[in-house]
Amino acid sequence: MKRLHEKMEQEGRVLSKHVLKVDSFLNHQIDPQLMKEIGETFAELFQEAGITKILTLESSGIAPSVMTGLVLGVPVVFARKRQSLTMTDDLLTADVYSFTKETTNRITVSKSFLTEDDKVLIIDDFLANGQAALGLINIVKQAGSEIAGIGIVIEKSFQDGRSLLQKEGIRVESLARIHSLQDGQIQFKAEVPQ
Ligand code: 5GP
Repeated sequence: MKRLHEKMEQEGRVLSKHVLKVDSFLNHQIDPQLMKEIGETFAELFQEAGITKILTLESSGIAPSVMTGLVLGVPVVFARKRQSLTMTDDLLTADVYSFTKETTNRITVSKSFLTEDDKVLIIDDFLANGQAALGLINIVKQAGSEIAGIGIVIEKSFQDGRSLLQKEGIRVESLARIHSLQDGQIQFKAEVPQ
């Protein structure tokens, strides 16, 4: 996605050879126009997949997921990282190791929002070592729903996430793929949807 690449080049800050900061449009401040384009691109990629629900992880996955859900006309469920007092229903849970925070979070989704009839598109902001995505996959499997694929805004292709997910036979679509973050520069992989 050309616009996303430009934004990353203009506003992304390479914090180390493993971490990219994109707080000005995705992880803190949000660029609604860019999110709209991201939603349209994911919707186009998965339009034939028969999606009935989008599953993401709070908080940075919510904006691109809502925009995708709007175009596909399906609800968006976000897994919570902290259990809310109002979550009194039966819960689906998975433990996820966080790459950026170096801690393990238990993520939860109410059983009432994912059923055996659902075909789920998982969306997240970043793909690094795939732990967040595997936690969400685990939850979809517990619910007995089908996984249509995973949509990622920014994939760091030098980490293991994509290969782990593909080993599970899961379709992975990333809108930007980073080949490396060496020397404070973002180097992209070429083959992504425009
Ligand atoms: P994974 O579970 O694939 O190892 O990491 C994905 C999660 O870690 C994402 O949900 C994202 O929140 C966070 N993350 C991983 N790498 C980065 C990064 O380079 N920059 C930012 N901002 N978040 C990241």
